[in-house]
Amino acid sequence: MNRDALLTALRSHVGPAQVLTEGDLSAYELDWRKRWRGRSLAVVRPGSTAEVAQVVRSCAQHGTSLVPQGGNTGLVGGGVTDASGLQVLLSLARLNRVRTIDAANSTLTAEAGCVLQAVQQAAEQAGYLFPLSLAAEGSCTLGGNLATNAGGTQVLRFGNARELCLGLEVVNAQGEVWDGLTGLRKDNTGYDLRDLLIGSEGTLGIITAATMKLYPLPTAVIAALVACRDLNDCVALLELAQRRLGSALTGFEVMESFALGLVARHYPQLARPLPDARWTVLLETGDSDDEGAVRARVEALLEAAMERGIAGDAALAHNVAQRRAMWHLRESIPLAQAEEGPNIKHDIALPVSAIVDFVSHTDAALLAAFPGARIVNFGHLGDGNLHYNLQAPDTLAPQEFLARHEHEVNEIVYDAVAARGGSISAEHGIGQLKRDELAQRKSPVALAMMRAIKRALDPRNTLNPGRILRR
Ligand code: FAD
Ligand code: ZN
Repeated sequence: MNRDALLTALRSHVGPAQVLTEGDLSAYELDWRKRWRGRSLAVVRPGSTAEVAQVVRSCAQHGTSLVPQGGNTGLVGGGVTDASGLQVLLSLARLNRVRTIDAANSTLTAEAGCVLQAVQQAAEQAGYLFPLSLAAEGSCTLGGNLATNAGGTQVLRFGNARELCLGLEVVNAQGEVWDGLTGLRKDNTGYDLRDLLIGSEGTLGIITAATMKLYPLPTAVIAALVACRDLNDCVALLELAQRRLGSALTGFEVMESFALGLVARHYPQLARPLPDARWTVLLETGDSDDEGAVRARVEALLEAAMERGIAGDAALAHNVAQRRAMWHLRESIPLAQAEEGPNIKHDIALPVSAIVDFVSHTDAALLAAFPGARIVNFGHLGDGNLHYNLQAPDTLAPQEFLARHEHEVNEIVYDAVAARGGSISAEHGIGQLKRDELAQRKSPVALAMMRAIKRALDPRNTLNPGRILRR
């Protein structure tokens, strides 16, 4: 690679001001968890799909690999360069236009660097709901959401990023543009490249734009916090809520008391509408009925749950501010964990029917192996997805605990997940964090097919090498 020649080419493609090589680049090079710090040959910020294609072509010609990045909120180290100083960090942040809203087709086409919240707002201004929603929505981007097949808090009703996506525009590893922004709900013309690209974490192509599904705005959204004695009761409440509310049930989150305790410790100003309980459920319904009717259905559900002894106290939000406050509590858990210090994160999926057994078995196994370890358990119970995290015992330096015990902790957790037919990554992806775990735990046949796809689409290993697969 001729570094100077490559930099000259990159500057000519995107303009010298958009090729950053000096100064503090930690906004790009340090990941959100502050676990991985890269050093890039340059941070390059193209402003159009054509510029992305030129950048990829030049990098490929010079044998230089690229790491695409959106909002840099990923949690598995997939979006930052390695420490070699030889990779280009390709920021999609300037591709931030909502291109079109097709009202009759209920679709929105936006560029990859659009911040998720901006996409939600554009949809709302046009009278639609764009339901993808997660705590990082103020910074994460549509491209990053698709590259990681993000989940979030509305998956129960609307599915994850994949299920919301109808078409993609992609720059491939050769620097060619594939315009697949069809907006079609049916299209059986061979292999589904869209679905292959979604969740590929920047290893198969650079997503530059996407056509996404829109939904009617619900007329009534009601949220409630419910106290439960144990996780068994949370699962029973989920089943009852699904029976009673049907597809109007949009979210069903659980939070163990220690997780909410961390929020209280680090954000004491946040309102706590319910007294502390062993488990707290946050459920939400969104419906096109009138608000009184929806509220009455939720109240009837809670009464039935109390009669059956599966719910204790409950608080219903009476306005938007109260509803937001409930979500704020839930969404503050990862932030409070970050304040508390470095921690071991797990993003696991299990059949809902296996979750109680998993948690009781794994809590006991972890506490036996690491007395005093603090389990931070919360997540999207409605999707069978827990963020089953571990904070070091109070008495130990977290960095040292992680360095010494992270592998053993993961073995305990992932063995228990595997024994119950679960997944080691429900929604955050593999990145570099779980790459070696994936190599050990995924079927060899599946891994061989994945490697064959990577080799076929990116034979020179230009795009995000070493992420998901080592080679
Ligand atoms: P980045 O972090 O920039 O990148 C993530 C990966 O995608 C990297 O591998 C990168 O190379 C690749 N990539 C980025 N843009 C592109 C592109 N245009 N083309 C190709 N590849 C690309 N995730 C959930 O699923 N559900 C949650 O509830 C959730 N909650 C979160 C809460 C917090 C507080 C935080 C910090 C993160 C959370 N996440 C959650 C993690 C989630 O994966 C990201 O927030 C989001 O999807 C990533 O978007 P991003 O733009 O920040 O991507
Ligand atoms: Zn999540």
